[in-house]
Parts: sequence; structure tokens; C-alpha cells
Amino acid sequence: MGTGPLGLRLLFVGALSCAAAAWGAHGARLATEFGGGRAQVGTQNSVAITVDDLPGALPGDDFAYGDLKELQKINRGIPAALKAHHAWAIGFVNERKLQVAGERDARAELLQMWLDAGLTLGNHNYAHDDFSNTPLQKYEDDLIRGEVVTGALLKAAGQSEKYFRHPYLNTGMTMEVKTAFDTFLKDRGYTIAPVTIEDADYVFNDALGHALEKKDKKMAARAKKEYLEYVDTVFDYAEKESAGMFGRQIPQILLVHDNALNTECLDALLEKLEKRGYKFVSLDTAMADPAYATPDLYAGTGILWMDRWKLALGMKLDLSKGPEPPGWAEQIFEQMRQERQKE
Ligand SMILES: [Zn+2]
Repeated sequence: MGTGPLGLRLLFVGALSCAAAAWGAHGARLATEFGGGRAQVGTQNSVAITVDDLPGALPGDDFAYGDLKELQKINRGIPAALKAHHAWAIGFVNERKLQVAGERDARAELLQMWLDAGLTLGNHNYAHDDFSNTPLQKYEDDLIRGEVVTGALLKAAGQSEKYFRHPYLNTGMTMEVKTAFDTFLKDRGYTIAPVTIEDADYVFNDALGHALEKKDKKMAARAKKEYLEYVDTVFDYAEKESAGMFGRQIPQILLVHDNALNTECLDALLEKLEKRGYKFVSLDTAMADPAYATPDLYAGTGILWMDRWKLALGMKLDLSKGPEPPGWAEQIFEQMRQERQKE
């Protein structure tokens, strides 16, 4: 398993294939101890939609500021799709990307568009720091620096900033650092926003961006089509995991990004989830489920929360299993990241 330039690869290798078979009964029993084992046969599945990297994630480079016009298109399209499906999502902001001379007001307006659509916002750290190579104090400083504009906009809308989403889902490389930052978050009134499903949209968004640069319409269409197919793959997997670990379908928390791919595909993605029997819930509602009280005893490179919970449930954590996006798209992703992020 190769690790990408930013350790992203670990995001889609975290999984356990034998959860239902070998560990199911054991896991379900332990899950009951955390209050998560009550069967809810016949109830509707639910998912909270969370969108990272506002005001926009560009192909090939997590740190690119992007073109204002392009960002306006993204932040018109994605909140409109969410609103149309009554998906009361949360967008996580990197305020560094607001700081472009001559565009500061226009970029703050991109966030306001989310609030105007009835959505909410959270903190994704000022500069999208990777906790694996950022000292604790700088990481904490960047959280504070990342709440200035978002906090003011939320306050004006009668809301307050409540959730923090770790970039790369890295919650700390050691238990010591993780515990220290958890305390810091709690003291500042933040709740950690977990992720139980990610759909590798950053891989497909790079493939789409590459196709558009090459004016390859066929490849662009393929990126979008296979992205939506992959959504089914990751939901199939997460539903099996949930059944094996909790004996029921817990409310899922999906991570997608504020990018051009989702500007074009989110409407179809949400429709697909509705057809799978999902209703959309807020992050507050999803996290009120007892499964989210399961302790996260994991330290290390970013992985999904169902994998983290395996440690508390006494289950085996095998990060070499789980769904992976198509090889051709991953290849473009790896290549673009290597070329652009070394610049
Ligand atoms: Zn991010």
C-alpha cells in the first residue's frame, strides 16, 4: 500500500473485511455495552452530509487559492443541491483561502452563501495543517486563526461555531498529543466532527480536472460516472461494517469536498442515497446516536471512525482492507499531487 504525498492513501485503506463474520457477535455484544446494540429493524437509514475545504478544493493541490469565479460557481451549486434535497449539511472552512488581496469580501460572501441556504459552518483549521507534521502549539494557533471570519458570520446568523474537522482526519500521531488537543478543543467549546464514510471525491476530482485540462470529454464523463458508482461501493461497505459492529444501521457521517466534481455530481449523489433509503440529518442529530459515544482510542495517520471504534469494541483493526477507487483515477491523483505540491 503506497502512501500518497500527504498520507491521504491511508484514508481509503482503513477497513476490516471479516467484521460481520468473525467478530460480529463479539462486536455486537460489546457495542451494546456502549448503548449501541439496540436493533432498529425497519427504521430508515440516515446520513449527515459534511463538506470540507470551503471556500473550495482545487484539483491536484490542497493549498491552491483558486479562481474567484470558479469558487462562486462551486459555492452556488453545492448549497443549492443540498437545499433541494433538504440535506442540512455543514461546511468546514479553511480561512487561509479567504485571504486574497482585493477579494476578501467576495470570498467571505462564498461562506455567506451557505448560511443563506440554511446550512451551517465549522472550523477545518486556518491553513489545512497536517497534524502529523505540525507542532501542537501551531496547530492550536491555526484553529483560533481559522475561526475569525466564520465565527463572525455565524454570529450574525444567530449561530455559533461548534464543530472542528481535522484535516486528513489526523487527530494526532500519539495519544499524548491527541489528548492535549482534545482538551484544547473542549475548552474552546468545540466538538470533533467524525467521519464514517468518505467517497474519495478528491481522487475523482483530480481525474475530472485532468480531463478538463486535456479537453478529454470522455475521461471527464468517466470520472463522474465512476465517482457515483464508487459512492455505492463505500456505502455497501459502511453498511456491512455498521451491521457487524453495532447490529444495526447507525446514522452515517459522509465526508465530501467543496469541489467542481460535487458541483456537477452532488445532486445525483443525494438522489442515489435517497433511493438507497437514506434520509438526511444534521450532524447534531447523527451524533446524538449512542454509537458516537464509543471511545476513539486510536492515534496515528487519519482513518475513519468505524475503524477507530474497533479498538474500543475489542475488534481487530486491519488497515489493509476496504474499498479503493479505480486505479486509473488514483494514478492521475498521485501524479498531480506530486507535480503540483512540490512547486
Ligand atoms: Zn480538508
